Amino acid sequence: MEKVLTVCPYCGSGCQMYLLVENNKVVGAEPANGAINEGELCLKGHYGWDFLNDTKILSKRLTKPMLRYNRDEPLHEVEWDEALDYVADRLKAIKEKYGPDAIMGTGSARGTGNETNYVMQKFMRAVIGTNNVDHCARVCHGPSVAGLSLIFGSGAMSNSIPEIENADCLLILGYNAAEAHPLVAKRIIRAKQKGAKIIVVDPRRTEAARISDLWLQLNNGSNMALVNSFANVILANNWQNDKFIGSFTEGFDEYRKTVERYTPEYAQTITGIAPSLVEEAMKLYTHSKNSFILWGMGVTQFGQAVDVVRGLGSLCLLTGQIGKPSSGVGPVRGQNNVQGACDMGALPNVYPGYQAVTDAANRNKFAKAWGVEKLPDKVGFTITEVPHAVAAGKLKAFYIIGEDPAQSDPDSAGLRKALTELEFVVFQDIFMNKTAHFADVILPATAWGEHGGVFSGADRRFQRFRKAVDAKGDVKDDWIIIGELAKRFDYDLTYKDTEEIWNELISLCPSYAGATYEKIERQGSVLWPCRTPEDPGTDYLFKGNIFQTPSKKGIFFATEWRSPAEMPDEDYPTVLCTVREVGHYSSRTMTGNCWGLAKLADEPGYVQISEEDAARLGIEDEQLMRVTSRRGSVMARAKISDRVKTGAVYMTYQWWIGACNELTIDNLDPISKTPEYKYCSVKLESI
Ligand code: SF4
Repeated sequence: MEKVLTVCPYCGSGCQMYLLVENNKVVGAEPANGAINEGELCLKGHYGWDFLNDTKILSKRLTKPMLRYNRDEPLHEVEWDEALDYVADRLKAIKEKYGPDAIMGTGSARGTGNETNYVMQKFMRAVIGTNNVDHCARVCHGPSVAGLSLIFGSGAMSNSIPEIENADCLLILGYNAAEAHPLVAKRIIRAKQKGAKIIVVDPRRTEAARISDLWLQLNNGSNMALVNSFANVILANNWQNDKFIGSFTEGFDEYRKTVERYTPEYAQTITGIAPSLVEEAMKLYTHSKNSFILWGMGVTQFGQAVDVVRGLGSLCLLTGQIGKPSSGVGPVRGQNNVQGACDMGALPNVYPGYQAVTDAANRNKFAKAWGVEKLPDKVGFTITEVPHAVAAGKLKAFYIIGEDPAQSDPDSAGLRKALTELEFVVFQDIFMNKTAHFADVILPATAWGEHGGVFSGADRRFQRFRKAVDAKGDVKDDWIIIGELAKRFDYDLTYKDTEEIWNELISLCPSYAGATYEKIERQGSVLWPCRTPEDPGTDYLFKGNIFQTPSKKGIFFATEWRSPAEMPDEDYPTVLCTVREVGHYSSRTMTGNCWGLAKLADEPGYVQISEEDAARLGIEDEQLMRVTSRRGSVMARAKISDRVKTGAVYMTYQWWIGACNELTIDNLDPISKTPEYKYCSVKLESI
């Protein structure tokens, strides 16, 4: 039996593991001693590999290219040349007729390596001639990247995941680590065991709230008011770090003026949190030696998410709780390579290494390296803008790699309409998911376990993942498919192997320049920035309190709280908030096709409802109920829980039955364009 060292394809923790292989078949998985997991895996890591052996488990693996020349016809299997010729002909025709900005492409954060994301964004920019490339960070931690970039000049976690357990205080907001990143949750528990104080801000009594020293059960949608009141209390008690503010920051006076209005008494009218709790929380945060702020989708999936992220970063500036071990900001990224898809520039505003497309020097550098005369200078569309751009007649073609927007994007009916109205849809993936049904052409790719490369973990950690088995069926690696497509545009985008791609990309990105395959292998992982051959990488950012903004200073920010776009009313009196469940990953295409995981978590989308709301509506536990918003209506089973606040219900977004995105609203944060998945109004009925 062969043991192949690789990295788990599910959450962004980046646990290292072995796939156990016999006769080209995976027969098991074992934890490896990676920096994050130290010999442990959660259930998804242990049991999430069945789809590598069986291509017809629950929903069929894609094993042959398919196309239809007419949308009235069913998709039929074809040879690769026919499929790729057709894709190239249609994309060329659309580019010729409407211009390059009528074409949109995605990278992928789901088991697809950094090398593929690099090649995809290069294809869109150098071959198609547009910056319309994006991926699912847009619907999760897009606000963290945007907000932290504005405050500190860097949008990633400031400190590594292992540092969590050595913090003296953890301030955890809207982050259910036990469900999202079980091996990060372990670090939180270890921190508690070592004596750290844990403050949890969440409307739900999550696992972290259960072990916390202080649980602030705020009203849904009130984050900004609470964060402002945190700052107010720090200043009112003179707990700020004046030396740090004077030496390393700017914008303090304006900031002070705004947060002064948010006395805890005033904030309580919005948040519902007692002033004494706000004061106690900030006393712990400011008086601890090393305080670390962690957050998840409960911060980022709101219409005012970037502002809140900037507010959290400002708490670090106010107190000097940054630029040292176990102290800073931790937006823990969700999908296994969502950090990597960002690192590789699968974003509409930056090239790989976060180099702005609007900067002429960057454009010239990449144009020269990629052998094209010029590159587009206009920031492209985000994926959440696709329905609006299609409705406005601006987008005509969509090349989707490893994403399932028909399941995962808000307001499913609106998204389905957009996919139908597009002139041409190319879908490149491993499963026949919901989005695939809208495709004109389907290009089947190899899965995690069938190809190798580099993933970026949530804490900026480059790690090698490896091929364990040969793919079954007539499928190709994503980067090879894109290269073969580019040939049809007379552009050479072919590479010998992923290392050749990697060497090209690190040569163009100063922050990654020293992170060779050899170094990643030798060290086990490399945290960027890693600028030179001698540089081992960077565990925590901003040493010496030097930030990466143009002035090298941290930039304070506060603003007024805005209410979510759709507040409860007489017709739709209850708040709906979307969440995830630990047994499954993303829209379940991978985990739903693993026997062990499908058996462990087999209840389609339930509705978590408080005892009071259930009693008022006459709803019993496990009873079918109907949930309706202004955009759609679904049936799901009730799960009565003492962990949720009355007036709000929670649904997991991972299921096709009881799909909560039929209900959600596509109100977007104005800066990051991230949808407000955490707040819309619904009505509940017993069936
Ligand atoms: Fe680790 Fe996340 Fe995989 Fe679980 S799902 S084994 S926590 S990387």
